[in-house]
Amino acid sequence: MIKALFEETISEEFQDYFIIATDASKSQIYASIAGTSNLRSFSFRIHPINSIFIAEALAICQAIDDLSVPDSNLLILTDSFSVLQALKNLTIKSPKVILRLAHKILMRAKLNKKIALVWTPGHSSITWNERADYLAKNVTESDLYIEWIAVEDICSYYSKFSIQKPIENFRNIKYLEVLGELPSILSTAPWLKNRREDIIITRILTRMIITPALLNIFGLHNNPFCAVCNQENTIEHILLTCKKYLPHRRIFCLKLNLSLLIFSSYKVFLFTICSSKRHLQVFLQMLKLFDIY
Ligand SMILES: [Zn+2]
Repeated sequence: MIKALFEETISEEFQDYFIIATDASKSQIYASIAGTSNLRSFSFRIHPINSIFIAEALAICQAIDDLSVPDSNLLILTDSFSVLQALKNLTIKSPKVILRLAHKILMRAKLNKKIALVWTPGHSSITWNERADYLAKNVTESDLYIEWIAVEDICSYYSKFSIQKPIENFRNIKYLEVLGELPSILSTAPWLKNRREDIIITRILTRMIITPALLNIFGLHNNPFCAVCNQENTIEHILLTCKKYLPHRRIFCLKLNLSLLIFSSYKVFLFTICSSKRHLQVFLQMLKLFDIY
């Protein structure tokens, strides 16, 4: 049904057009692009880091370069709806490959030749599609490899990688046992107003904040004990148990409708303050009243 409709439309609307079909394929190891016309075909390997979207757009670019005939209008068939959508909504911020494709279409228009891009539904036995699909899926090591990696794909690949890696590293180190699983610094980052807040929260999460007890270890403070409670003046003491700050803790709990039990352990406390933007901001306000550096 689709096949018949499609063929009818093509023969009625695009009589004097030269037909090119393109497709792309992607697996973990391979990404490939292909194009075919009644005169020639191509199929190339590209780096598997490229997304299917980029590959589909690249296949069209390549087809315009390799398969078009100078004196004819071109009808390019693609099963990538998202590429056509991206072309339609072209802006200066569009992916590079889309800008490149738009440029190619424009250059062609300057020669008074039209390029029509038509979406063809995949897997509907349209012969043109099947041919391009077959070529793209059957690339092998011996097919030409073209050096194209989309900037957008590199960026998204490495941003995923850079977030995963520190978390993995952290999970593998010995401090995990001592510190417990930290709330992710990256997940709280969007809630912090500035670099200073970022530093304070990171130091609190990693217990690297400067306290009299810590200074004493380095010989920079002569009394590691709290003057009020006579307990070692560590970050746990200051934040969780020091009597001097009990009123501040009460206000903190009232503001956020929490129980004082959140001060029962450092771990519970950290998870509480990192549970929302509001928790974190109220905590940062309270922190200004504490004697830490
Ligand atoms: Zn104290």
